[in-house]
Parts: sequence; structure tokens; C-alpha cells
Amino acid sequence: MPKRALITGITGQDGSYLAELLLDMDYEVLGVVRRSSTTNLERIAHLVDRITLVPGDLQDETSLLYALRDFKPTEVYNLAAQSFVHSSWALPVLTGETTALGVTRLLDAIRIVDPEIRFYQASSSEMFGKVLETPQRETTPFYPRSPYGVSKVYGHWITVNYRESYDLFATSGILFNHESPRRGIEFVTRKVTDGVARIKLGLTHELRLGNLESTRDWGYARDYVQAMWLMLQHDGPEDFVVATGETRSIRELCEIAFGAVGLDWHDHVKVDERFYRPAEVDALVGDASKAERILGWRRKVDFKEMVEEMVESDLAAVAATLR
Ligand code: NDP
Ligand code: GDP
Repeated sequence: MPKRALITGITGQDGSYLAELLLDMDYEVLGVVRRSSTTNLERIAHLVDRITLVPGDLQDETSLLYALRDFKPTEVYNLAAQSFVHSSWALPVLTGETTALGVTRLLDAIRIVDPEIRFYQASSSEMFGKVLETPQRETTPFYPRSPYGVSKVYGHWITVNYRESYDLFATSGILFNHESPRRGIEFVTRKVTDGVARIKLGLTHELRLGNLESTRDWGYARDYVQAMWLMLQHDGPEDFVVATGETRSIRELCEIAFGAVGLDWHDHVKVDERFYRPAEVDALVGDASKAERILGWRRKVDFKEMVEEMVESDLAAVAATLR
């Protein structure tokens, strides 16, 4: 019997890569897509003939119940969220409704429709926030620093609680930042690689950024969706950190991205207060040794390769708009 996976957030970066991975393994894939006045299927345009899409929203539990009842998935990946930290200060309640309470709505729907379903929750390194231990691992206490981080802590603990209260196969993957050519343009990696492309092609001369001192543990999105799948194939539900163990600053990101096209970032990057945040997560770096040991997970693409791929992809995308 084919395996059947339901993905929330299928129109996002990770949802699109996860759908590709599962289709390659002969899964039937259902994507829950929220209503929008314009289509936003760009990331999955190449997949729409091979997947089923249904309308649904993490704010509407009935839509989740119908999707589960009609499709009968064996695995559910909850990737939907208001996922941009900076916007979570402007939209704290909406972020809580979707990124936090949305997890409970989906877990409740699973409990009602089929408690045998295996569930993946997209938890985040932002939960570690003002870090209490370095590197951060599964046992590191949380100290979130944004409405997004607080919402993810709720989502994480409700997943653990439904596992312990109702014996659900509910797993939480604590993933550190992961990027790709499909990363949202508002995130700093993609903002930089898109900016490099625009500057190289003569459309603009400068790129305005916020805090250049903060550091992140940046991995490659394709490698990270593989870890999500591995977690649901494991014998039992457990939480896993997924990270590279390497930390880079925004400056290093700029150096590699501008360097990839023979430019010096100092000539183009301007610091702009508008992109500073009310509170910052300064130094995230993860320890993925549990995932490596128990799941056999390994990353394949390193930071430089990833940034160069993103620059190349953005150069092609920006050049296409000029034709
Ligand atoms: P994206 O922002 O690219 O995608 C988010 C997805 O959630 C989109 O498909 C979006 O739909 C959907 N969505 C938003 N609100 C709702 C809602 N109310 N109901 C249903 N769907 C909704 O995120 P990523 O792919 O980068 O990340 C996937 C998940 O992993 C997110 O939960 C994120 O918070 C988490 N995460 C991501 C990390 C990263 O570095 N990428 C690190 C750690 C965790 P639409 O297209 O309509 O906006
Ligand atoms: P996050 O880790 O999920 O918040 O991912 P982002 O890519 O949005 O931000 C990563 C880091 O880059 C944060 O510490 C930001 O403060 C920093 N940063 C510096 N300049 C910018 C900018 O112009 N945009 C964004 N998004 N982040 C920036």
C-alpha cells in the first residue's frame, strides 16, 4: 500500500522540497493550501500534476478535520507557520494563532480522526533564543526572544504533551536555519543573494541590511527535509536537533555571496536601523549528534556551496526579468 503524507505549508520552502522527496519515494502527497486572492504555487508549480491540493488553514480546525478524514494520511508534516521572526513583532497575535495554537488544532484533529498517524512538528532553533548553553542540543533549556520563538516553544511543548498524554507518534524536529534558492526573499541569506544579483546586473548599487554581527548555524533545506522524513521512520517518537554545528556571521555571508561574482561587499552594503529587531538572537549553533547517531542523518551541502548556488539561481532569475 502506498504511504500517504499530508503536508501543511506545502507552498513554502520546506514544503516544496519535502513534497519532492516524498514523491520520489512513491508517496501519495496531499498539500493543505490556504486561501489567497492570488496564486502562490510558484515553489510547487513543477509538482502540481503529481500532488493533491486541498484548501485549509491552521486557524480553521474543521478544514484540517476534513483533510485528514478524506485523505487518510499515514504521516502528517506540520510545516505551516507565520515563519518570519521580524514580522512576528508586528503580528504577535496572528503568529500565536498560527504558529502556536495551530499545532494544537492539528494534533486534536489527528486524535479525533486517526491517532495512529505519525506527526512531525517543525520546531525551531529560535526557541533557544538568548542561549543558555553552547552548542544547543535537545536538552538545552529554551529562552525565546520573539513572538515567533515563544509560539514555537508552545508548539513544541504541545507536541510533547500530546505524545505523553495520548500516546501519539508526535515528533518535534528542532531545526536550525536552513536556506536554498527557494528561501523567502525577506530572510537575510536570500535577501543578500538577490541583492548581489541585482547589483551585478546593474539594477542597483547598494544593499541595506540590519545587524551584521549576529551569527547563525545555516544548513541546506534539501538536507533538512530528509531529517524530517527520517524522524517519522524511527521506531518511536523523539525530538531531534538538526544543525551543521558551524556558525557564520552576516559579514561572512556577504563576503561569500559578493565574492562569488567578484564584488567586494564593503562597497555595497549599508547598515539600516530599520532592519534591526527589538530583541536579537545572537549566537545560535546546534549539536546534531543525536540525529546523526540515531537516524544516520548527514548533511551533504556546505555553506559556501549553498550560498553560491543561491547567487547563481538569483542571477538567472533577475536576468530573466530583463529579457
Ligand atoms: P515558509 O515561510 O517558506 O512557509 C510557510 C508555509 O506556511 C507557507 O506554505 C504558508 O502558506 C503556510 N502558512 C502560513 N500561515 C498558514 C495558515 N494559517 N494556515 C495554513 N498554512 C499557512 O517556511 P519554511 O518552509 O522556511 O519553514 C517551514 C517550517 O519550518 C515553518 O514552520 C518554520 O517556522 C519552520 N522552521 C523553519 C526554519 C528555516 O530556517 N527555514 C528553521 C526552523 C523552523 P502561504 O504560501 O500561503 O504563505
Ligand atoms: P531568523 O534567524 O529566522 O530570524 O532568519 P533571518 O534570515 O530573518 O535573520 C537572521 C539574522 O540576520 C538575524 O539575526 C537578523 O537580525 C540578521 N539580519 C541582518 N540584516 C538583516 C536583514 O536585512 N534582514 C533579515 N531578515 N535579517 C537580517
